[in-house]
Amino acid sequence: MAVTRNTVQREIVLSTVLSMCNHPSAEEVYDSVSKNDSHISKGTVYRNLALLSQTGKIRKIAMPGTLADRYDFNLKPHFHAVCRKCGKIIDVCCKERADGFSFSEPFKVEGMELVLSGLCSECDENSSDKSELK
Ligand SMILES: [Zn+2]
Ligand SMILES: [Zn+2]
Repeated sequence: MAVTRNTVQREIVLSTVLSMCNHPSAEEVYDSVSKNDSHISKGTVYRNLALLSQTGKIRKIAMPGTLADRYDFNLKPHFHAVCRKCGKIIDVCCKERADGFSFSEPFKVEGMELVLSGLCSECDENSSDKSELK
């Protein structure tokens, strides 16, 4: 069977996410993809991102509030922490996996979407730098 245009586009979207280590939003993936393939439409990129996350090739991170959803190539169980100042997302290792939680009633864990909020090292350093200037 011939490789269809759809397959090619999906491969482009997938390899782009795999090359981006910063938890890109769909918008950022589209920006990056369109540099390599100017004919690809935003709808195609968004559709393929949804498809790839549904089939487990990449992971979709549902962000809290009004923040845009992000995509992650790292499929190992881990959490995310988002900096409330610059919006940077960092991976949080989770050695204990779900075993570390205590549930108030039996629950079979199939996925985790915990997003912590706070300050990244850069933003935190900036605020301590300012206080040192006093
Ligand atoms: Zn920050
Ligand atoms: Zn991640």
